[in-house]
Amino acid sequence: MNPCPRKSQPQKASPQEMQVPLVGIARETQQLQEQLIEALSGVVRSGRFVLGPTVEELERQIAQVAGVRCAVGCASGSDALLLALMALGIGPGDEVIVPSYTFFATASAPWRLGARVVFADIEPTGFTLDVDDVARRITPQTKAIVPVHLFGQCADMDRLRQLAHQHGLHLIEDAAQAIGATLEGRAAGSLGTVGCFSFYPTKNLGGLGDGGMLTTDDPQLAQRLRLLRLHGMNPRYHHAVVGINSRLDALQAAALLVKLPQLRQWTALRVQNAARYHQLFRQHGLTGWLTLPSALPGRGHVWNQYVIRVPAPHRDPLRQYLARRGVSTEVYYPIPLHQQPCFAALGREPLPHTEQAARETIALPIFPQLQPQEQRYVVECIARYVEQHGREESEAAA
Ligand SMILES: *Cc1c(COP(=O)(O)O)cnc(C)c1O
Repeated sequence: MNPCPRKSQPQKASPQEMQVPLVGIARETQQLQEQLIEALSGVVRSGRFVLGPTVEELERQIAQVAGVRCAVGCASGSDALLLALMALGIGPGDEVIVPSYTFFATASAPWRLGARVVFADIEPTGFTLDVDDVARRITPQTKAIVPVHLFGQCADMDRLRQLAHQHGLHLIEDAAQAIGATLEGRAAGSLGTVGCFSFYPTKNLGGLGDGGMLTTDDPQLAQRLRLLRLHGMNPRYHHAVVGINSRLDALQAAALLVKLPQLRQWTALRVQNAARYHQLFRQHGLTGWLTLPSALPGRGHVWNQYVIRVPAPHRDPLRQYLARRGVSTEVYYPIPLHQQPCFAALGREPLPHTEQAARETIALPIFPQLQPQEQRYVVECIARYVEQHGREESEAAA
């Protein structure tokens, strides 16, 4: 690895080479290692590995975080989306409106149920569903909207709720990236018909593997979700409906119960890191060249990702430049879903804001354990890049 340029910039002290990971899973796990092992040992000794009291305790605590009466554990965030749509009876002949600028599972869930997936564009500041564009796509066949609280910030749920109410649609929150996020003081997971969470290790509350949770204020819907995650079986070996196998295991629940008490503090650190990036980018005079993310009015942003925009020709060269200097970044998402080969049959109507975001965005490290000197290093490396290549037009800027 090269250090940040030395020879070409002899007049300035060059930043020290560092290795800055994109996510803090290793650091987080290390901090809690003993408690995690103890909790896992407890499950091993108990002999209760699937669902059971540990999962129920996690359900109770997540219901509190999401500000709802009921929470139902399942195997992953992807399954949570699938189960939510199944429980609401979505199937062939129905249309489901989803953003294209999101993780694959948001769209694969309705697709797998035989519904027609209708992609809508995003609003460019917050990267979440553009409500006007959603409204334009509603037809008599539309049954549900799946807004995504992307990067840790709630979609415009107030307007979406109005729209859903007006047209009799279900609102399924994809809150996989947004545990603890709020809109006007109300928690993600309580803003629609049902909320879907993921405990994949890169999320703000991450397990030691896969896990997911559904949240709702409707006890009957919760009951149906419990039925569907167990093959639709009730009582044992009696199946009134066809469900799936999507149980949360006790090992994941135990690990998540160790981590959950830290979530508030971790979120506060993410918020602090976002503020520090803002300040550093301003100090370096970079806010004209790149666009910083910001929390929209009324939103409690939990910063699962800190995603900047840079001029499209510079996006990949800047990422390579940072990678050579030890800074890990990622692109969420390089290929919008409406342009994925598997969805080609849906027509690929252009979604300009989605396509532009896919060309311009870079996610920088923002995890809670990120150190101020690491953030300074990240911003200094970007400043160096802009100094050396920022005015070039070509893709070959690296
Ligand atoms: C992670 C994620 C999912 C899927 O969660 P898994 O637990 O990985 O299945 C769904 N939607 C969004 C927006 C996500 O970020």
